[in-house]
Amino acid sequence: MKDKGIHHISIISGDPQVNADFYVKTLGLRMVLKTVNQDDPGTYHLFYANGEGQPGSSITFFPWSMAMPAKPGTGRVSTVSFTVPEGSCDFWIDRFAGKDVRFDSPINRFGKKVLPFYDPDGLKLELIEDKKSEAIPAWDGSTVPAEFSIRGFWGSNLQLTRFSETVDILREVMGFQQTEENDHEILLTTESNLGHSIIIEKAEEPKTGTSGTGYVHHIAFRAKDEDDLKEMRQKVIDMGLSPTQLIDRHVFMSVYFQTPGGVLFEIATDGPGYKSVAESEEEMGKKLFLPPWLEPRRDLIEKRLQPVNV
Ligand code: ZN
Repeated sequence: MKDKGIHHISIISGDPQVNADFYVKTLGLRMVLKTVNQDDPGTYHLFYANGEGQPGSSITFFPWSMAMPAKPGTGRVSTVSFTVPEGSCDFWIDRFAGKDVRFDSPINRFGKKVLPFYDPDGLKLELIEDKKSEAIPAWDGSTVPAEFSIRGFWGSNLQLTRFSETVDILREVMGFQQTEENDHEILLTTESNLGHSIIIEKAEEPKTGTSGTGYVHHIAFRAKDEDDLKEMRQKVIDMGLSPTQLIDRHVFMSVYFQTPGGVLFEIATDGPGYKSVAESEEEMGKKLFLPPWLEPRRDLIEKRLQPVNV
């Protein structure tokens, strides 16, 4: 199961320039796609990833400058974790301290060193030291030295009161295996080098939060290609759930479904990928990409969007 795991994670943010400054200048990720929210073309959809824009590395944002901060609750993704080479945490502690990024003391979880920190909207993030990250090339355009740089996702935590169905979906559809369990957490993993781990935090009491900035809108898992996506979609139906039809996102094909635990899941194909809509590898993420049906309105759309520079 080397090609299974997290595909991308999508989040609501505040100001797009603040968001871009943090993910590109502070964390050293590459903006691999700048497009509009297809449901609200007056706003952006921004994608940051490793240098090649590989599946398992892209964190995406729907910036809404006027939105209120999300209030925490259960039935949602609580934490997004990035994978970094072993021995990187000290570098990052100095970097966060120097750039006024809020962070907590490192902890040890499932045998890995974890550095918790927060983005400008209060989203909880982590850096996790993992030898597997060293198999992924560092991006040479990063603001962070290669030996310490983020290579993509390590995984993500889901905080759930009702979790057995989600465990079944992750095992039977998404290609994960249950690896460890204790009183508070379940760890599920795949053999991929990126996006290979999901931790389910067992919440005792349901807590109703709110959406808003810093809220994880959905988490997407990998399908090899369109045939695999169709097979995975059928398995979701066989589990009694109601996925959408296949949706063409131009950089991948997608299916969405609500899980009984409360988190919105997506399944997305590995290809064609972010490079496919750029003029060249070098140009990836630079020009505003519009789906063909919005291209006739490019002038108007570009005028309404606040410029974002990275
Ligand atoms: Zn998505």
